Amino acid sequence: MSGIRQIEPVPDGGRRFRAYNAKHLDALTARAGLGEAERLAVRAVGTVLPFRVNAYVIEELIDWTAAPDDPVYRLVFPQADMLPAGDVARIAGLLARSAPEQEITAAAHEVRMRLNPHPAGQLALNIPDFDDEPLPGVQHKYPETVLVFPKPGQTCHAYCAYCFRWAQFVDEPELKMATADLSRVMDYLRQHREVTSVLITGGDPMIMGATVLRRYIEPLLEPGLEHIESVRIGSKSLAYWPQRFVSDPDADDTLRLFEQVVASGRSLAFMAHFSHPRELESALVAEASSRIRATGAVIRTQAPLIRTINDDSATWAAMWGTQVRMGMVPYYMFVERDTGPQDYFAVPLAAAHGIFSDAYRQVAGLCRTVRGPSMSATPGKVCVDGIADVAGQRVFVLHMIQARDPDLVGKPFFAGYDPDATWLTDLRPAFATRFPFEADDAEDLPGLWSPEVFEPAS
Ligand SMILES: *Cc1c(COP(=O)(O)O)cnc(C)c1O
Ligand code: SF4
Repeated sequence: MSGIRQIEPVPDGGRRFRAYNAKHLDALTARAGLGEAERLAVRAVGTVLPFRVNAYVIEELIDWTAAPDDPVYRLVFPQADMLPAGDVARIAGLLARSAPEQEITAAAHEVRMRLNPHPAGQLALNIPDFDDEPLPGVQHKYPETVLVFPKPGQTCHAYCAYCFRWAQFVDEPELKMATADLSRVMDYLRQHREVTSVLITGGDPMIMGATVLRRYIEPLLEPGLEHIESVRIGSKSLAYWPQRFVSDPDADDTLRLFEQVVASGRSLAFMAHFSHPRELESALVAEASSRIRATGAVIRTQAPLIRTINDDSATWAAMWGTQVRMGMVPYYMFVERDTGPQDYFAVPLAAAHGIFSDAYRQVAGLCRTVRGPSMSATPGKVCVDGIADVAGQRVFVLHMIQARDPDLVGKPFFAGYDPDATWLTDLRPAFATRFPFEADDAEDLPGLWSPEVFEPAS
């Protein structure tokens, strides 16, 4: 096929940064052993959903002898059956006859718009107003925590196939959100003294070099912001590019910046996204995480539960155990939300609870700082605590880990058991006519039943 580049193995085992994109899909899927028709279908999916991977993931993380079933391969590569078969066949047809670029882009755009890119206007729902103007690139949903999306941090070292932020990575300008005007963000934070935690998120903020990252973090340490107790960075860089903290030219500068946050009397929480225990195995990760921890930063870990990637309890028990061994603190297991490749990666809530509790039972108490499975839904973070038979009825026992309305945090409630339910919107209240968050919020929350798009999972 014309225009397809050959991929040569990287002699240094992927330690030097090299990015691969949709242009390299055919050669990489050939390496995974896919036949011609399937490779074409994967390329078709790759016109709709973002694809980006680097030499470290390719050479050190993926087990090519197990590809295409290898979980790390599945973590980053599009799959032929991720999108409706009709859409894939149509775009594959265009690719096969080398249709004009414009025609392919238009078809891809049309499929994207059907993928629920920003369910129920979520883009607008959590953006605060400041001086009667919206503050773009900021989300303030829970009183104590503000999320900041730096404009130069809206990409990642590699993309997860399941990412709910997929809309930010494709070339659809109106689907992006990011902050440019930092001084307004700082003014907002100065006025909002209820904010104790600022979470820098993306994309992956660690895609930014130390100098740029410093522009976003240093102002948080200035006078007038003493109410900020912690700075969090949501990142998958420890999994996708640990060199960022070891051998990159600005690795040491970055660590000095972390030290500065700690020296200011705040906690620097590095919220590390690990999807699979394999990502913790390389010596580089051990070195990177001990260098981060040596700054006084705390590494907390989180990931979504994803069908065919990490949907078994042994995987989670191994992951949490290794994380604690490495001095990390397990934090969240998330439920995959319904945007992008709908249903493809979803694990039903009942199964998710089974996997979580089975893994939780196997690990030592130090791992049990983890919470989940948790859905980041419009009213807040809803945790599935268990399945119980109460008064002759089988129910889900749930509670809110986070809520727009702080009075609801921690409050237990019930929903009718449904083995197929995959999201809060599939559930119906039990022993009540409404869920607790419906009573107060129903009126001013038009998108009550929609999942949340932007959430710190990087
Ligand atoms: C999860 C989340 C937070 C942080 O919640 P914690 O429970 O403090 O980790 C903040 N804002 C949004 C929008 C979130 O989804
Ligand atoms: S889940 Fe995080 S690291 Fe993965 S593609 Fe999305 S934003 Fe990037």
